[in-house]
Amino acid sequence: MPLRDIIGQDNAIRILKSMLGKEDINGAYLFSGPKGVGKRTAGVEFAKAINCAKLEPDACGECVSCSKIDSMNHPDLFIIQKEEESRFIKIDMIRDIIYQASLKPYEARKKIFIIAEAEDMNEESQNALLKILEEPRENQIFILTTSRVSGILPTVFSRCKAVKFNLLSQAGIQEILIGRKGFNEEEAVLFSHMALGSPGRAIAFKENDEISERDRMLNDFFFRKRAIFREEVCDERKYNDLDESLGMLLSWYRDLLVSKFTEDRDIFLNVDRIEEIFSYSARFSADKLERDISSVMKAINYLRRNVNPKMALFNMALELERQ
Ligand SMILES: [Zn+2]
Repeated sequence: MPLRDIIGQDNAIRILKSMLGKEDINGAYLFSGPKGVGKRTAGVEFAKAINCAKLEPDACGECVSCSKIDSMNHPDLFIIQKEEESRFIKIDMIRDIIYQASLKPYEARKKIFIIAEAEDMNEESQNALLKILEEPRENQIFILTTSRVSGILPTVFSRCKAVKFNLLSQAGIQEILIGRKGFNEEEAVLFSHMALGSPGRAIAFKENDEISERDRMLNDFFFRKRAIFREEVCDERKYNDLDESLGMLLSWYRDLLVSKFTEDRDIFLNVDRIEEIFSYSARFSADKLERDISSVMKAINYLRRNVNPKMALFNMALELERQ
């Protein structure tokens, strides 16, 4: 997929293509923007265009270089990211990059290093990397991506050309889900509404079966199909990702509140259960729904501060019960 086919990032893509057109490609780039909006994909496509045999401001997708990158088999493309179980990108990985950067490209015009979620480098790693960013070589390019610019040292930041990525429209996400990811229409409509601008999030929703997790949350805390306060209701182990599941519960209360003010179906998130949302709407005052929203938000904040999850859920259940 060449740069021109990337959906919903017109501004960023225009900047990249204009640099490619002027053959003004050197040093380091920082792709910043929310999670799951395609920064890393754009990084790979940019790398492809830089090294494409056709020498046009975009990748041809057919030459040897493009094919090798498509199959993630190019000896001059390095993609570094944090391992799942670690807190940081390991300093050894950065040392390896520094070593690789001291060697010439094997076959490409430019050796390309993509550091995904670069804020996962600790200070020591960023300072180590800074040394090579300060003395850029003609034949190498660094592409850092980040969803948290505040996690990048100002010294590193100042060495990079910044390219901003933004959230996508619901329609843009729907197009990606159907056209690129093989979602059926019904799934694509639902997940693109839930995704809040991030196709990556929509894909994760499906992969993690988060709709079932949402329904479990709703049964326990909203419909209260089980006697509330029983241990199994407040058992955090039932959820793969409690933070996300609570986020789904939050979206439900948000939709209920929205239903008090509009019937415009495009702005709802839980589009698969919209009839229920309208049927429950009148039972709650806006005031009560606002309090419920803050109760769920409180639980999310507790968890992020490492409060015992059972306590956080129990506390939330108590608050949601209140009239
Ligand atoms: Zn090519």
